[in-house]
Amino acid sequence: MSAQLQITNLQKRFGGLVAVNGVSFTLSPGEVVGLLGPNGSGKTTVMNMISGALPCDGGTVQVGGTDITRMKPHKVAKHGVARTFQLVRPLPTLNVAENVLLALAFGKKRHWGREARELVDQKLEFVGLAGRGEEKVGNLTYIDQKRLEMARALASEPDLLLLDEWLAGLNPSELRIGIDLVQHLQGQGMTVLLVEHIMEAVRALCSRCIVMSAGEKIAEGASAEVLRDPAVIKAYLGD
Ligand code: ADP
Repeated sequence: MSAQLQITNLQKRFGGLVAVNGVSFTLSPGEVVGLLGPNGSGKTTVMNMISGALPCDGGTVQVGGTDITRMKPHKVAKHGVARTFQLVRPLPTLNVAENVLLALAFGKKRHWGREARELVDQKLEFVGLAGRGEEKVGNLTYIDQKRLEMARALASEPDLLLLDEWLAGLNPSELRIGIDLVQHLQGQGMTVLLVEHIMEAVRALCSRCIVMSAGEKIAEGASAEVLRDPAVIKAYLGD
């Protein structure tokens, strides 16, 4: 079976700064993998290149065996890639259901009328917002905004989900809910690339981790081993 995600020798410069320097890794279908590293190490830039939000200066991105390297974000979404953002950003003038409905349009298949409505309800139920479709997004609590963000990402029916610090800012009981949701997705076979600073979440969710520092991949392997690798600890703590 082809890899769900394969990135090869990705490169990105911003002026004189090499933000991502020859990063390669592969995710097998159904894997939940952590992408770790200190601030500024290039994680978000990698996510942006995978999702098409930023053009690559070099290297390739393949999803399910298809080269998506030069595709725009809406095309990447049609190939089964969805992402959430650290800063939750629903459209404030639309209600909860409308926000998810809009996200459906970016999916692999077109859905109309009752079918679309049912899909929205299904996603809202999955994330724990059943029956709350009519609510204004401005009235949602932080965890419920996170749930909505997840429902929007899932609306496009992705095979690969990019989570960019989706769990950030949650209190301990909310964090448990967030971790449970990702585990639930994992149980359904979703492939997930998780940029995350909360080590409790990384330990609970990721069998494998990739660690970046200063634009380069410095470690990759089983989470328990990677997290006690001296080079990784040094990258996080500095010299
Ligand atoms: P991380 O997600 O690991 O915190 P980023 O990918 O956001 O790291 O950033 C990697 C490096 O690229 C940082 O030095 C950052 O300042 C720089 N960078 C990111 N985006 C831009 C941009 N749009 N313009 C210029 N520099 C950027």
